[in-house]
Formats: sequence, C-alpha cells, structure tokens
Amino acid sequence: MIRLSKSYVGEDEAKAVREVLLDGYLGMGKVVGEFEEILEAYFGRPAVCVSTGTAALQLSLQAIGLKPGDEVLVPALTYLASFQAITAAGCKPVACDVDPQTLFIDINDARKRLTTKTKAIMPVFYASSIGALDELSLFAKKNKLRIIEDAAHAFGSRYKSELIGSFGDISCFSFDGIKNITSGEGGCIVSDDDQFIKRVKDLRLLGIQNDSVNRLNGARSWHFDVVEQGWRYHMSNIMASIGITQFHKKTFMFSKRQKLAQHYDEILKHNPDIKLLSLNYREIVPHIYVVQIKNLLDRPKVRKRMLDKGIETGLHYLPNNYLTKFKSDSDPHLPITDNVWPQLLSLPLHPELEIKDIDTVCKHLLECLAN
Ligand SMILES: *Cc1c(COP(=O)(O)O)cnc(C)c1O
Repeated sequence: MIRLSKSYVGEDEAKAVREVLLDGYLGMGKVVGEFEEILEAYFGRPAVCVSTGTAALQLSLQAIGLKPGDEVLVPALTYLASFQAITAAGCKPVACDVDPQTLFIDINDARKRLTTKTKAIMPVFYASSIGALDELSLFAKKNKLRIIEDAAHAFGSRYKSELIGSFGDISCFSFDGIKNITSGEGGCIVSDDDQFIKRVKDLRLLGIQNDSVNRLNGARSWHFDVVEQGWRYHMSNIMASIGITQFHKKTFMFSKRQKLAQHYDEILKHNPDIKLLSLNYREIVPHIYVVQIKNLLDRPKVRKRMLDKGIETGLHYLPNNYLTKFKSDSDPHLPITDNVWPQLLSLPLHPELEIKDIDTVCKHLLECLAN
C-alpha cells in the first residue's frame, strides 16, 4: 500500500518521549521552552508553541483584538480548520476565490468582499503555494487589515529566498502528525509584534497573566490575574520533545519532499490532461502534492482504481462554503473554486516514499486517465 501521507517518526522520537516520561514532568515545562528557543533562532523572531495549528489560528485572531462579528477574508479552498478557527474566535469567515494558477487567495476577489467589518485576511499556503504575497501585503496595509498566515503546509518554505515565518505579520504553523515536521499534535505562532506575542502566551494558559514564564521553569502561578477568555491550548513537554527531534531531521525530510514533488512534475508535465501547480521546489517544501485533471468526469472511479492498485489519494479540499455551517444566504460566487475543486486530486507524498513509488503512482494514474 502506498499511503497518501504518513508520519516520519521512529526510534529517535521514541527515545525523546521516553526521556520526558522518565523525567516525570509531562506538561508545559522546560522542553517546550527549548523548542521555542530553537524556533526563535530559526525564524529570527518570537515563537509561541500551542496544542494545534487550529489553536494557533484561533488565538491569533483573538490576540489581534477581533470582536464578535468582525470579518476575516479567507479562501474557500482550505482545510476546515481555517474556517472553524475564525468562528471559534467569534468572527465571520468571508469565503474568497483563488487564483487559478497558484490556488492562492485571489486578491482582486478579496477586494470586492471588503466591508467596514473586515479586520483581517488569512492567506493559506495551499500545498505551500505562496502566491502574490507582496501584493497581499500592500492590499492589507491599504485597508488596515492584519495578516494571519495559515502556514500549516509551509514550514520550511521560502518566498523570494526568505523563510516563511521570518518576515510576515503573523504566521501560524501546524505540527500535526503528517505535516512537514510533527510534534505529535501541535502548532506555533510566529510574529515580531511583542504585544501580540505576550497576549497569545497568556491566552494559551487560560489567560493567566505571565504564567508562561513560570511554566517554562517548571513552576506555576498561584496568585495571578485574568482579564479575558483564555484556553488550555499550550504544548506539552512530550510534544515538544518530538518536535525538537523532528526539527533536527528536517534537512532530510524537506529535501525528500522536494525531490519527490519534482519527480512527479517531471513525469506528469507531459500529459495534456494534467495541470500542475508548477511550484518552485527549490524554495518551497510541499506538504501535499496536488494535480488538477482537466475533463475529470468521474473522480471517485479514478480514486477507486488507484486504491485497487494499492495507492491512496486525497481531496484537498471540499470548499468550506459548501458546508451547512458556512453556507450563506446568497451564493458567494466563486467561479474558480467551483471549477477547480472537482478536478483536484492529491497524490501520495511523505518522506518514506522513494522515487520508484512515485513512478508507480504515475504509471497507474496515467493508465487510469488513458482509459
Ligand atoms: C493542518 C492544517 C491546519 C490545522 O492544523 P492542526 O494542527 O491540524 O490543527 C490549518 N490549516 C491547514 C490548511 C491545515 O492543513
């Protein structure tokens, strides 16, 4: 069976977890502090570790001071987590269309959806596709919007040679089991806005002011104040020990992902029915490998046939505006999303695959499409 995605973990992670278990302090303590220091050195700015990527997005929205009813521009074509994080923060996700070439949020479409309540924009680095980020930044500045990057797919990726997370307004990463690096579950928030960082640090620990400092020293606060709704969204030492181990393996894992994606491109680019995302794999580290298949009439059948050959495929993503919770009374009119989504197919990508596996996947896919 060729799996769609898979955690790349083994003895090293097991050893790290064992050390934490035997040390006996499982919750948020000095190992989380170590992981945060490693991430801060990597990005060159403060990083706050939390329980999931979804928590990173939710806390970020709260910590920029959004109020109930405020609107956040977000592409419809994203994981459900982006939308649920926005409503969890009491805000309204405003579904936007994507650019047909990059599947990155279409800024011209987003512009049409601005209202007096629009306070933030959440670009999603879909398959690590990092579209017109400069243009997005100008658009945000002009309209006084905060930018919360859903960089869940993009850990290790670069834009014009600069590391994602090292230069934006706010970047949110996910370390769930199958992302570019994992901490079991987990996520982090990176920003150079000190006030904001201070606030997310409190919010992840039930809103207890300055508790982060005590926790990282293996202590806790007994006398404290709380001024707003907070959450139990911190990272644990167990998770951080996995994250640190993974961080040190990232060179291998990233170059493997890049190499496999490049190989897919090489083989599939000759097929007239397949449209590639055409990403620069020298700059980006892909979490998923997605192709667009023109004239794809029966996607379930293709997926079934691939599965019969022992190959898993995936669908990233069902547009969120199709879901009952996020349906609006009026059709949001997202022609590119509506057109592209039924043609998308995600092919296996994870660091345990080899070039020969990619050859096998492509061979069966091309056979399927030929019939
Ligand atoms: C994985 C993911 C998230 C959420 O991360 P979790 O750690 O799973 O909560 C958010 N957005 C996108 C696009 C993702 O792929």
